[in-house]
Amino acid sequence: MSNDLSASLTAAAAALTDASDVTLLAHVNPDADALGSALALGLALHRLGKTVRVSFGAPDSVPETLRDLDVAGLLVPASAVPAAPEVLVALDTGSVGRLGPLADRLSTAGTVVVVDHHVSNPGFGTVNVIDASAEATALVVLRLLDELGVELDEPIARCVYAGLVTDTRSFRHARASTHEVAARLLAAGVDAEAVARPLMDSHPFGYLGMLAKVLSRAALERSAAGGLGFVHAVVTLDDAAGLRPEEVESVVDLVRTTAEAEVAAVLKELGPSYWSVSLRAVSRVDVREVAQLLGGGGHRLAAGFTAEGDASDVLSRLREALETVAGG
Ligand code: 5GP
Ligand code: MN
Repeated sequence: MSNDLSASLTAAAAALTDASDVTLLAHVNPDADALGSALALGLALHRLGKTVRVSFGAPDSVPETLRDLDVAGLLVPASAVPAAPEVLVALDTGSVGRLGPLADRLSTAGTVVVVDHHVSNPGFGTVNVIDASAEATALVVLRLLDELGVELDEPIARCVYAGLVTDTRSFRHARASTHEVAARLLAAGVDAEAVARPLMDSHPFGYLGMLAKVLSRAALERSAAGGLGFVHAVVTLDDAAGLRPEEVESVVDLVRTTAEAEVAAVLKELGPSYWSVSLRAVSRVDVREVAQLLGGGGHRLAAGFTAEGDASDVLSRLREALETVAGG
């Protein structure tokens, strides 16, 4: 652990210990690492007797698969976040924009603590606990919990595990020390299969019909991405009607299995001509760089951005950014 990191962990723990009211924010369209991280820290602070709320900027509803993590009823809608929070903690949020409509609280909060693992995080907090070598923000949270002297009970361990199993793709991207962390979480009572199956392995029957439509339109461009291959698929609002965001988010996990393509993209329609794009790479292309050229961000092998226009326009811009990063 670098000195910087251990100093910022100490500073963050001190700020949280001194606080009586803490607001924890995940990024918009939160995933298991964002909400699991926020709820793990939230549950611990709640147990220490503090007033705690957990929220995120958009959408209004909590992903169904993450609701059970909130055993203490800490989640509140964005509209219930105080205008000037005493202490604000932003988790798994690599940039200010990822807070969505709640980004304005950064300037009104008494103290802002950033807890993250994005290499591109500019450190927009008063205290910044950023470890780009951590596979998940949940791991950084666990270090903070240890710094706070919090005992790891099952509900807290489950939140950490949810973030970890998701961001490591079921521990395939986990270092040896991270497997040791997983062992510690299991020892605290986490039921690995019970946590992972709803998160990554369970969908309503309608998912199969949606996949049939979406995957039948997928396209492979062998010469794109500097000749490394690019595969893409588009999920329209119509395709996704009646399904949860969880079903739409998982499409990229199938598209990315295409052996002929180094890079995979899924365009997810959020509103008319408004898209959230998921990018994945196998090993050679830094898709964070690609996403950043298009106003987004993320990690080397998993990144994203939002874009306006027709799907074909978004794809042209993406193709161009891929050439810039992977070509020549
Ligand atoms: P996903 O494809 O699962 O939505 O996102 C993969 C990763 O890309 C996330 O962990 C996050 O780091 C990043 N990401 C996704 N969408 C955006 C976006 O619109 N803006 C930024 N800055 N990062 C994003
Ligand atoms: Mn994460």
